[in-house]
Amino acid sequence: MTSIERVLPTEEAGDLLDLATEIADRELAPKAADYEARREFPRELIRTIGRAGLLGLPYPEELGGAGQPYEVYLQVLEILASRWLVAAEAVSVHTLACYPVASVGGEQLRKQLPDMLGGELLGAYCLSEPQGGSDAAALTTRAVRDGDAYVIDGTKAWITHAHDADFFNVFARTGGPGPGGISCLLVDAGTPGIVPQAPERTMGLHASPISQIAFDGLRVPADRLVGEEGTGFGIAMRALDSGRLGIAACAVGLAQAALDYAAGYAREREQFGTPIIDFQGLGFMLADMATQIAAARALTLHAARLRDHGRPYSTEAAKAKLFATDMAMKVTTDAVQVLGGYGYVADHPVERYMREAKVLQIVEGTNQIQRLVIARSLAKA
Ligand SMILES: Cc1cc2nc3c(=O)[nH]c(=O)nc-3n(C[C@H](O)[C@H](O)[C@H](O)COP(=O)(O)OP(=O)(O)OC[C@H]3O[C@@H](n4cnc5c(N)ncnc54)[C@H](O)[C@@H]3O)c2cc1C
Repeated sequence: MTSIERVLPTEEAGDLLDLATEIADRELAPKAADYEARREFPRELIRTIGRAGLLGLPYPEELGGAGQPYEVYLQVLEILASRWLVAAEAVSVHTLACYPVASVGGEQLRKQLPDMLGGELLGAYCLSEPQGGSDAAALTTRAVRDGDAYVIDGTKAWITHAHDADFFNVFARTGGPGPGGISCLLVDAGTPGIVPQAPERTMGLHASPISQIAFDGLRVPADRLVGEEGTGFGIAMRALDSGRLGIAACAVGLAQAALDYAAGYAREREQFGTPIIDFQGLGFMLADMATQIAAARALTLHAARLRDHGRPYSTEAAKAKLFATDMAMKVTTDAVQVLGGYGYVADHPVERYMREAKVLQIVEGTNQIQRLVIARSLAKA
């Protein structure tokens, strides 16, 4: 793996990145292909990452996190993604799933945070539904108050960790139509009425099964409401602002892995008696890949630093997610091209990288939705 020249805020951050590299090299890179082939979620590996202290990085120490700036968390994520996207995506989704309780959860709910941030409890974030993901404010899953509980009925779609999560953030309608009628509930996986469906047959991320979840008369104590009734949509969107930066960091790491592999291959592979990297057409392609990755990393860390300084960062997060994931799609496709026919077969990881990159353009708001966010900010200005 190419060593990246990084400017880090503290010495401790450097130690954390070293730890992430060591774990990624030892636990993720050598095991990824096997788990992918078996389509098995690496639950134990995520626990290992948690026990090493890398799951709660951006959350305050008093809540059980590591109190690290977002820019440090994202660079750890990038390192994990460069060894195996499934692990980094799991960390990113779990971090997203911890956000509602950590940001607005009452004292009672926060008692679970140390276990969430330590890797003992894995989270899922249930916003999308079969009839719509982009228009999340139109969701139809209902939570009806019944005495000291809410009763949830409806179906969520595409849920990462649907089969493996210990807790679910469920966004459901407790009021009228539109964003103001949505609330967030924290649901334990063991509660009767949660019915995960068969895993989807996805293009990539085979070791991270996703599926629909039906909620059938799911009874949740009223004190599991996260924040106030009717504030769920705002919580969901703020969580996604942060989550999108995680996806951008995953894209940077994945693209870096593709470039490193392709450049290594191009240095070894000879045609016409010459290493193919010395053909200008190919060398320039690799140069463009390296430049685009550096630009995406800079954009992502810029948005993270705005967040770390308490400045508005929503539009910058959308730009980072858009640019980094479009970049990863292009770079991983070019990496396949660099390997020629060998890039198209599963003997080399670039084939997997290209399949994995595609999903990053879709999740946590498609790239069309990111453009919408950016365009709206321009319209307001
Ligand atoms: C592997 C994977 C994991 C996922 N994990 C989760 C998860 O854990 N939790 C969760 O809640 N969701 C999850 N999702 C769902 C994901 O967030 C949605 O798929 C995504 O938001 C898009 O929603 P949709 O699929 O319903 O597409 P639609 O909203 O139907 O969009 C279809 C197309 O129309 C475009 N479009 C829609 N509206 C506009 C507009 N206004 N302007 C321009 N174009 C528009 C979209 O960009 C897209 O190209 C996951 C999805 C995948 C594939």
